[in-house]
Amino acid sequence: MNDLLNTRNADRVLGSVARDPESDCWLWRGQISNSGYGRMMLKTESGTSIESAHRASYASFIGPIPEGAIIRQTCGNRLCVNPEHLEIIDK
Ligand SMILES: [Zn+2]
Repeated sequence: MNDLLNTRNADRVLGSVARDPESDCWLWRGQISNSGYGRMMLKTESGTSIESAHRASYASFIGPIPEGAIIRQTCGNRLCVNPEHLEIIDK
């Protein structure tokens, strides 16, 4: 997962959101998975992978996600990828 941490991925996250001025949420406007989370195709050092948009955002703006850790939105909006609204939950 650590290779998600690069500026190109950060730029792609920023290019796929609409900022909600009221909630300050960054609402994902790209593909949405069956579970209701944003998702994006990423090119990484190990190839191409599909990642949850909020996980890609966390990795791009905050830092590497520990193996097996879960990222959740503190605002409760599954489509939000604002790094300030993301927190990590360790198993
Ligand atoms: Zn939010």
